[in-house]
Amino acid sequence: MLLAPGLVNAHGHAAMTLFRGLADDLPLQTWLQDHIWPAESRWVDEEFIRSGSELAIAEQLKSGITCFSDMYFFPNVVSELVHKHGVRAQIAIPVLDFPIPGARDADEALRKGVALFDDLKHHPRLTVAFGPHAPYSVADDKLESIRILVAEMDAGIHMHVHETAHEVQEALHKHGERPLARLARLQLLGPRFQAVHMTQVDDEDLALLTEHNCSVIHCPESNLKLASGFCPVERLWEAGINVAIGTDGAASNNDLDLLGETRTAALLAKAVAGSATALDAHRALRMATLNGARALGLDDHTGSLELGKFADLVAFDLSGLAQQPIYDPVSQLIYSSARDCVRHVWVGGKQLLDDRRLTRMDEERLIANAHQWGERIANTDKSR
Ligand SMILES: [Zn+2]
Repeated sequence: MLLAPGLVNAHGHAAMTLFRGLADDLPLQTWLQDHIWPAESRWVDEEFIRSGSELAIAEQLKSGITCFSDMYFFPNVVSELVHKHGVRAQIAIPVLDFPIPGARDADEALRKGVALFDDLKHHPRLTVAFGPHAPYSVADDKLESIRILVAEMDAGIHMHVHETAHEVQEALHKHGERPLARLARLQLLGPRFQAVHMTQVDDEDLALLTEHNCSVIHCPESNLKLASGFCPVERLWEAGINVAIGTDGAASNNDLDLLGETRTAALLAKAVAGSATALDAHRALRMATLNGARALGLDDHTGSLELGKFADLVAFDLSGLAQQPIYDPVSQLIYSSARDCVRHVWVGGKQLLDDRRLTRMDEERLIANAHQWGERIANTDKSR
């Protein structure tokens, strides 16, 4: 076995597991406008969030993920599940310019977010951040309110930024300003700022990220599947920027497999940088563990095997024939292992996966429940 720090999935939308495979191989706008948004407005309520998030927590534990970031609706429901099932999470309060499930407007979302932050302030496994969806979907006045709140509360900001070239072009056309530059002007950037995606990075963007000590969260498989672009991981790393990794939601990935995601990241970084030495296996593992914890502001608690941190651990079984011989266990883990080698998982010293079996969750019930949701949702999707 290789004992490693628990993996940190630094970006996702947990309950979207219930939309896994609903609408594949479509352009981003068609995928969103004709499938995902209608399905969300038809189906997302507290019960949907409960079922989808439990499925995500179980899948992530079986994949060696001990800590995840969630940015989806009804953050109070997800928080209850994280508390109940013993995992660790950052819950980002979703904020958009339009009404969302669970909040009629951004003010209500922020009010509820502040209440949740206060409730969970001393929770050993839960932290609350603010999640303005993206620069194009949140207006200046709301970003201003968020800036004031996070300064008072010392909370993180988790946001999709520069996901596609189109996003940057449109902002330049409409406002004459790149989205990251606008966020800098609004004083949102800082060490607690988590910029998700960043497939578009010019010299000025790089200077802003460095100057403000922001983290970047790389989601390679979602970017590949939606043909969004390539995050220049090696360039960011060389500039000293903290780069973490996330799976994004299961509707655009389609799994919550951070080990597989890390392998993709390591391979893709070499192609993008044009260099076989880019993102070696050891740095890739660090990106999936300590860098994730650092991005979420949790590196005092998790992300590495050190005295004083919580025992968030994974035992990977490297005894299979596909891993032999073992010259370097980390290389074997990143380049030759799949998530079925996850044997045991502990969070805060409590064993949540024992010999590939969930200790606190009923896997058969979760599968049956997901199956029922799938049948109901399939009957209403217009592509079927
Ligand atoms: Zn996302």
